[in-house]
Amino acid sequence: MITTRVVEDPREIICALCRQLYEHGWVSGTGGGVSLRVDGRVYMAPSGVQKERLRPEDLFVLDEAGEVLEAPADASLRLSACAPLFFHAFRLRGAGAVLHSHSMNAMLATLLFDRELRVTHLEMMKGIEGVGYHDELVVPILENTAHECDLADAMAGALEAYPSTHAVLVRRHGVYVWGRDWAAAKTQAECYDYLFEAAVRMRQLGIDPAARPGTGLEPRRGFTH
Ligand code: ZN
Repeated sequence: MITTRVVEDPREIICALCRQLYEHGWVSGTGGGVSLRVDGRVYMAPSGVQKERLRPEDLFVLDEAGEVLEAPADASLRLSACAPLFFHAFRLRGAGAVLHSHSMNAMLATLLFDRELRVTHLEMMKGIEGVGYHDELVVPILENTAHECDLADAMAGALEAYPSTHAVLVRRHGVYVWGRDWAAAKTQAECYDYLFEAAVRMRQLGIDPAARPGTGLEPRRGFTH
């Protein structure tokens, strides 16, 4: 069977994703990041740059061992401090893309739970690979550190402890989300963000997002008090 596949330039994809993430408010103030792994090469946005203005030539290209193969022409650009965390998702999960977001929804959601975010019976859970409407979605929460690279060991531990998760939250910070390719990572990042916002807003309404409907832990329609 002959299949035609549109070959997209990973550098262009990262720049487009950074613009989209910026529009969501996920990478404002130069925070957050995006990395793709394509055909044994890892493409990564540099640290501390205006993500919505990123150009294809600004990216780093590394091999799968983390060695830099191509550096940006602008020598002032530095490799992202997220690099060790991105590599954990590539190596331990076989991911093809990782997004790191400083989304307000993700940050606030980490304040509602102790070590794990838990939600259930929300339609958007179905956008997460391997998760159904009646399941419970669990996302581990790491404690933040002063420097992003110091999160790497904790992230590796969470990936081992939660073999089916596609995201790791970081307290008072944000979230790392990955997928088999950029489209899966983006789709899941959008679904997770919706679920984080839902958890925050449900708590504001006095509804436990982890409670199964009908268990009496959520207010009934038409209740008054
Ligand atoms: Zn960050």
